[in-house]
Amino acid sequence: MKFRDLGLIEPILKALNDKNYTEPTPIQEQAIPIILRNQDILGCAQTGTGKTAAFAIPIIQLIQQKETHQGKPKLRALIVTPTRELAIQIDENIAEYSKYTNLKHAVIFGGVKQGKQVTKLRNGVHILTATPGRLLDLQDQGHINFNDIKLFVLDEADRMLDMGFIHDIKKLIRILPEKRQSLFFSATMPENIFKLSRTILNDPAKVEITPASTTADTVKQEVYFTNMSTKRDMLVHLLKTEIDDQVLIFHRTKHGADKIVRYLKGRDIRSVAIHGNKSQNQRQAALKDFKSGKVNIMIATDIASRGIDIDKLKYVINFNIPNVAEDYVHRIGRTGRAGESGRAMSICEPEENAFLKDVMKLVGNKIKTINDHPFPQTDKPMTEREKKEFNKQKEAKKREMIAARRASGQNRGSRQKSKSNYRR
Ligand code: AMP
Repeated sequence: MKFRDLGLIEPILKALNDKNYTEPTPIQEQAIPIILRNQDILGCAQTGTGKTAAFAIPIIQLIQQKETHQGKPKLRALIVTPTRELAIQIDENIAEYSKYTNLKHAVIFGGVKQGKQVTKLRNGVHILTATPGRLLDLQDQGHINFNDIKLFVLDEADRMLDMGFIHDIKKLIRILPEKRQSLFFSATMPENIFKLSRTILNDPAKVEITPASTTADTVKQEVYFTNMSTKRDMLVHLLKTEIDDQVLIFHRTKHGADKIVRYLKGRDIRSVAIHGNKSQNQRQAALKDFKSGKVNIMIATDIASRGIDIDKLKYVINFNIPNVAEDYVHRIGRTGRAGESGRAMSICEPEENAFLKDVMKLVGNKIKTINDHPFPQTDKPMTEREKKEFNKQKEAKKREMIAARRASGQNRGSRQKSKSNYRR
């Protein structure tokens, strides 16, 4: 199957050709025709499957074909996604696929001043990508008019709920035009997500690309058992002996991510960290340095890294085993994207053995144990200091989740802020 067979218009085919994309990925092959015939979609797929283009391309086509291009552009499509990085990435994709059309697009997210975003909105856009907090805030202030929206995308619905955006989403649904086409995407589909989808969608077609077939098949997965006290040595050993290209390292906490940067710096290894305590500008700068190859090692927390797309990333290292098994799938999904091969290495200390079991259950025991290394795990019980550190990390993770929720409230105007504070 070629993109040409999907009935796409010339300006889009030309843009895809510029990117050397000739064949649609499975989710694109399934979703594009459904969206073009104006049907709603319930999509179970994670990033890395080509999901963004699967909704962006038909949205651009549907709007381009109907637009008269007279007067100020009207907001026709709204895409809502949980994190700023993801929002920026989706908007960049839209810019690329729509470059031979006259469509206007913009992205809005919290954590930065709203002035530039408001100016863009005032000039008129056809396609808007947004995070929930800033979207509702600007709508509240009268800067966005939802009346002409024909297409609505809710992206990463499960993460949206994890991050505490449920009230924002429900509010948004109430104020969107009832007559619209809706596309709903989630990496997982537990009961609460499915229920939410039913309040948004009308007779949807189901599209499913399961994580097992998108990540496990193209990513070589390995685990290195070690102790807490030798974890950092293990990391340096891997960086020096196994890694010959760019690597994304996951850490459970923001504090821990910063500590690794400092530890590596002490060993003359340059790295950058990306997490929620960094300002938007710092995060963008770190990402830019990494994407351009100026820095080859990036340490990220789960939330900050969600959906980040780095071309042909070969290596992912899990400095700790995530305590939510699904996060493992998201982490290793950063490599082996769109059919490229990748390698995911996890460093596991005794206290994380149980988390690893959960992960193994989810991915079907596809993780190979590598015993041949200088820092093997011993069975000695944790020392008091290690136990304290472990509990500290657990607490820090909890605080991070709470702070992430709070940040979504803080991005709002004062009226909204007081409301969300009240909610908590
Ligand atoms: P996504 O799931 O949207 O984050 O996309 C994952 C990666 O696949 C991104 O780098 C896309 O640019 C790339 N991609 C999307 N569609 C295609 C395609 N049809 N052929 C090759 N690469 C693609």
